[in-house]
Amino acid sequence: MTARLTVLSGPSGVGKGTVVGYLRRHHPQIWVSTSVTTRPPRAEETDGIEYHFLSERQFTRLVAEEALLEHASYAGHRYGTPRSPVQHRVAGGLPALLEIDLQGARQVREQMPSARLVFLAPPSLAELERRLVARGTESPEVVRQRLQTAKEELAAVGEFDDVVVNSSVPEAVERLVALLAV
Ligand code: 5GP
Repeated sequence: MTARLTVLSGPSGVGKGTVVGYLRRHHPQIWVSTSVTTRPPRAEETDGIEYHFLSERQFTRLVAEEALLEHASYAGHRYGTPRSPVQHRVAGGLPALLEIDLQGARQVREQMPSARLVFLAPPSLAELERRLVARGTESPEVVRQRLQTAKEELAAVGEFDDVVVNSSVPEAVERLVALLAV
């Protein structure tokens, strides 16, 4: 595997979290950054695994200390990538993977132009809407907001180096792992 920073992004509901969860379980040798967020944990999430769950005040302090490589607000909550673990990986010649939204992917590209941006695409817009509703963890208003954001994000595919279509999670993970190796 070549040592570089890879950013997996794409619209909400496309399954980035599921793909990265599967990748963490089946390819534990691949280092994945753990983001910070002010969103409350979902039932199946554990602090320190999927995210570090922070208060607004804690998050604001990290921003002020410039401790985040990138950060963004998304559907009313804040998300960011702790800078120093990623920097240590890259400085040590070791690969790193981030799973972040489009705003974050653009910030990483500006700061680290050699980063590889991978777009996780839904098989279709109808399928994306179905998945957003089926998740059932968010209110209709949040689903509506996320779908609107997702439509705008689909248009950004041209800014990316590679596209992986998420028709099946194991296949998408294998394609991502293959990309990480070149
Ligand atoms: P969720 O709340 O469903 O876990 O994530 C919502 C969105 O936030 C997803 O699009 C996810 O990729 C994005 N996200 C997760 N972590 C980060 C991060 O550290 N930075 C940015 N910019 N987006 C993130």
